[in-house]
Amino acid sequence: MCSNHLAGESIGIVGAGFGGLTAAAYLAAEGADVTVYEKQPQVGGVAGVIEEEGFRFDTGPSWYLMPDLFERFFGNFGYEPTDFYKLERLDPQYRILWTDGDGVEIPADTSEVIDIFESYETGAGAALESYLEQSAETYEIGMNRFVIPNRSRFRDYLSLDVLRSARGLSLLGTMDDHVAEYVDHPKLQQILQYTLVFLGGAPHNTPALYNLMSHVDFELGVYYPQGGMYAVVEAIAAVARDAGAEIQTETEVTGLQPVPDGVTVQTATATVTHDRVVCNAPAAHVERELLGPEMHDRDEGYWTDRTYAPSAYMLYLGVEGDLPELEHHTLVLPPEWDDHFESIFETQQWPAEPSYYVNVPSKTDPTAVPSGHETVVVLVPIAPGLADTEEARERMRTRVLDSLADHADTDLCGRIAFEREICVSEYREQFNKPRGTALGMAHTLFQTGPMRPSHRAPGVDRLYYVGGDTNPGIGVPMCLLSGEHVTETIVEDASESGPIRSFIGYTA
Ligand SMILES: Cc1cc2nc3c(=O)[nH]c(=O)nc-3n(C[C@H](O)[C@H](O)[C@H](O)COP(=O)(O)OP(=O)(O)OC[C@H]3O[C@@H](n4cnc5c(N)ncnc54)[C@H](O)[C@@H]3O)c2cc1C
Repeated sequence: MCSNHLAGESIGIVGAGFGGLTAAAYLAAEGADVTVYEKQPQVGGVAGVIEEEGFRFDTGPSWYLMPDLFERFFGNFGYEPTDFYKLERLDPQYRILWTDGDGVEIPADTSEVIDIFESYETGAGAALESYLEQSAETYEIGMNRFVIPNRSRFRDYLSLDVLRSARGLSLLGTMDDHVAEYVDHPKLQQILQYTLVFLGGAPHNTPALYNLMSHVDFELGVYYPQGGMYAVVEAIAAVARDAGAEIQTETEVTGLQPVPDGVTVQTATATVTHDRVVCNAPAAHVERELLGPEMHDRDEGYWTDRTYAPSAYMLYLGVEGDLPELEHHTLVLPPEWDDHFESIFETQQWPAEPSYYVNVPSKTDPTAVPSGHETVVVLVPIAPGLADTEEARERMRTRVLDSLADHADTDLCGRIAFEREICVSEYREQFNKPRGTALGMAHTLFQTGPMRPSHRAPGVDRLYYVGGDTNPGIGVPMCLLSGEHVTETIVEDASESGPIRSFIGYTA
């Protein structure tokens, strides 16, 4: 599959998250001499792994969504995902436990979900059908016209064809209003909106075009890669190495200096000049801390004014015995969740009554635990920038364990054999995430498409961005596309004969 458009180019990549690793694979396959510099001892970025005392935890992503985009990545290198890991579709896909004692399992069969909707509200079954029709259409237009093709600049939207497509998208409204047009019941509204947390947004600040997430959820399905999400990280790293990329871990980049026809990368032990540098590290960190202030177009105000996606209080527990009340994925939600979103985006407080997510991968994957145990990962979305003192974390830990006992009939008291936490400080210090956001820049209307940082860093020649902070955005499947797009952008820039299409064949 190698096209060698970049033969003879030396390219440095700062960061080995999904975006950095994917870019490394594509760029190396294009013939570039690729070196990845990663600060942490392991690759994967926020999608890391804890392996201790017989327990294995994915530290970040756990929902394997949009399987077609994983197929697309591996397919571009002549593989299938199943050459690296076994994939299982989850059924039920997830369970929702409301704190008022109600609960529901969402099956993989959409017709059963329609029945569930009807049981909550007369007419809601038909409303869901029509919601999903619209969601499928938005997905089709959104993916094929805006997300899969490399369109991150305003001028990429200026063709008549693209504007015609945009008419089909209800771009300007909020998800709150959009969902209310279909169903009234607050619990049904939550089912249609919970996926927004994947985008780092809330129903009131996420554009309605992201109703496409319900198509992803109900129609495309929820999968689990055996070995966990880290099996996917390892597979992509293997593809990148196989294509010739060198990956250096425990190698923090401390400075970037543009020079004529290149960019110099500074680490503790070396100064290396590459023809181009791609940054997977957060854009705010790159522009504020790695480049001198005179070297970029965006000022401090730009970065302080951004809407950052939530941070997270993460609790990783190895637990004795089984957990019959929890599914592989369980959401524990108060019937009224506006206060929690307000605590994240408005008041920036720890949530008093949190909505949270519990992942028990050992239900599907016995290799994640010693026998007779389960792994439990709790994720509470919280405001970025919160002070996560020991006392504050302890309060949240107690709140979550009490809530599991009260609302999920799961008392973990005396059963915890292993425990770790990750919170705001770790995202800020280990991964250089601004304000300790877990996800990066939220997908608000003004941080979507051409208004997100683009692949070409403004004001600095030969410097590029890849990963969740740039286009298409947050989430593993989007980061896979981002690696493809930044490669196309670089191939275009490197070509003396003008724009050319690289080996990556998309159908726009
Ligand atoms: C808790 C959590 C749950 C999630 N759940 C899901 C999910 O279920 N499904 C899903 O699809 N997505 C999920 N996501 C989102 C998804 O994981 C991310 O969007 C994606 O992994 C981000 O990848 P990235 O390419 O932006 O890189 P990042 O993961 O941000 O990695 C960037 C890398 O750059 C490195 N770096 C930073 N500064 C430097 C420096 N100066 N020198 C060298 N290296 C540096 C960092 O150490 C890091 O390894 C979740 C994220 C989190 C945190």
